[in-house]
Amino acid sequence: MAAFLLVESFLQAKYVMKISNYLLATVKESPADAEIASHKLMLRAGLIRKLASGLYTWLPLGNRALKKVENIVRNEMDKSGAMEICMPVVQPAELWLESDRWSQMGPELFRLQDRNDRDFCLGPTHEEVITDLVRKEYSSYRQLPAIFYQIQTKFRDERRPRFGIMRSREFIMKDAYSFHSDEESLQETYSIMHETYSNIFSRLKLNFRSVAADSGSIGGNTSHEFHVLADAGEDEIVFSTDGKYAANIELAEAHLHTPNKKEEKRDSKLVDTGDATSIDSITKLLGIDAKKTLKTLIVHGEDKEGNISNNLVALLLRGDQELNVTKTEKLKGIYSPLKFASNQLILKQTGSTIGSLGPKDLDIHKIADFSVEGLCNFVCGANMAGKHFTDMNWSENCSYDQVADLRMVQGNDKSIADRSPIEIKRGIEVGHIFQLGAKYSESMDASILDSNGKATLMQMGCYGIGITRLLASCIEQNHDEKGILWPSEIAPFRLIILQIDAHKSADVISISESLYNKSLIFDIESLLDDRDRKTSPGVKLTESELIGIPHRIVVSPRTLKENAVEYTNRQTGAKTKVHIEDIEKFLKETVCID
Ligand code: ATP
Ligand code: MG
Repeated sequence: MAAFLLVESFLQAKYVMKISNYLLATVKESPADAEIASHKLMLRAGLIRKLASGLYTWLPLGNRALKKVENIVRNEMDKSGAMEICMPVVQPAELWLESDRWSQMGPELFRLQDRNDRDFCLGPTHEEVITDLVRKEYSSYRQLPAIFYQIQTKFRDERRPRFGIMRSREFIMKDAYSFHSDEESLQETYSIMHETYSNIFSRLKLNFRSVAADSGSIGGNTSHEFHVLADAGEDEIVFSTDGKYAANIELAEAHLHTPNKKEEKRDSKLVDTGDATSIDSITKLLGIDAKKTLKTLIVHGEDKEGNISNNLVALLLRGDQELNVTKTEKLKGIYSPLKFASNQLILKQTGSTIGSLGPKDLDIHKIADFSVEGLCNFVCGANMAGKHFTDMNWSENCSYDQVADLRMVQGNDKSIADRSPIEIKRGIEVGHIFQLGAKYSESMDASILDSNGKATLMQMGCYGIGITRLLASCIEQNHDEKGILWPSEIAPFRLIILQIDAHKSADVISISESLYNKSLIFDIESLLDDRDRKTSPGVKLTESELIGIPHRIVVSPRTLKENAVEYTNRQTGAKTKVHIEDIEKFLKETVCID
């Protein structure tokens, strides 16, 4: 023991991370407003504190982990050849007017005015600013491709901030933008980014999937989201069990699990259904399967300029299917965001009430989902209160004007790739990549001279990762009933050294401090729990598990009696006695390599 102390005694750490002097803001009980594991644990382990709805302070422990996540992302982005920059958070309205997003973004955009009444916003994303930069700095195809990225705070006045930093109003994003002289070059960079993202999420040891996604308000054609699989996820992702198809449910397509059976056609009948109006009550009343019913939903159409119109549109789905809003509102002639027509308007235009709608003699544009194509002898509303038709058939009794994919994919459907079964899981969207094409370069006139000296619009891609959400997702996937189980690369500290009953033996302090110094020589970030007897050994042990430091060493009079310390691995719970003489070797072989 003496030799161990001697070697270390002159090595005093400049800034010793002692808990007695550290803000370890742990909380015993789960805060009432925290619904999901990561949110509860981030508050309980003292990683974050709420300032106001969707606004959080990062406490010392949380901030250390956050910087590590940032650095992994930075490291992989640098490897991809992207150049790091830093753009202003405050952005002039003029740029957003140019791209036509000043109004499109609606209330999610935090807006402000300067002292001269000029309009600005707090950046929710930076397509406009980067396009403005590149159109001024770049002039020739020879300078492209170019990829820029930044890791920076973003602001979005979310309608429903929730789950702590998962969906907050101020959050950190890594946003990257690429510029190209042609589509081929854009696709090449898109693949590199896809690979870079996969490397980042693999380094964080996450169970994730990349899925085809809707481009939303950012625009463009091709896009992929990266989802961390977790029951707490807000999204549903659809993939075939053989891995050939993966998409966000918002745009997923699939073959029906139970296709419509061919039957001998019967003659339709008008039946009294009283106040049975829902699919559920109709199937019970008539003793039929929902697959033999048709539901009719009425929404607003759009005029030529894309404005809402009172020309209504009927959407026809098989009774056991649900409407997919995202797919539907992309259809030409349907107003987006989708708006269901009011009872009053439906009554006025069709003479029918909502509970008895059906396609027969319905004099508005009718779009049928693929699920109703080939449906035989089905039941539908008769457009008369309290009445339905049974045994309806398309060519004999009623019709539609158009067929489209309107329905939400269901578990057990069959993949469109090869008809293998479909699975639906919940995911947290941690990243999103887009091929924007010329969307912004066109509206903002960003062109370069091509190889023929002709001005052409630049092709553009954009690539986001929610850094703060990513950290929360790591916790969502890595915790147990005791607390967080940090993946080593992002743990705020790698080793925690606990002094137990130091008042009973001076050696506890000297050995643990030597151990601390030794860990610094090996570049192991360590935290020393030097709190005195007012903090019980039980609390120290429980807190070390809650904050989830991967490696723990306990130094106590009991362990020192055997000339040893006690090591515990947070992940496996495995305990080992380590003799003082073997500590150095142990640190090198166990803690350093993890
Ligand atoms: P969402 O559908 O979750 O609202 P989004 O499509 O609006 O996400 P993007 O504009 O693609 O998100 O932003 C890139 C990334 O930033 C997202 O993949 C997500 O990880 C993260 N992100 C977006 N909004 C928030 C938020 N309010 N809080 C935390 N992270 C966010
Ligand atoms: Mg959003």
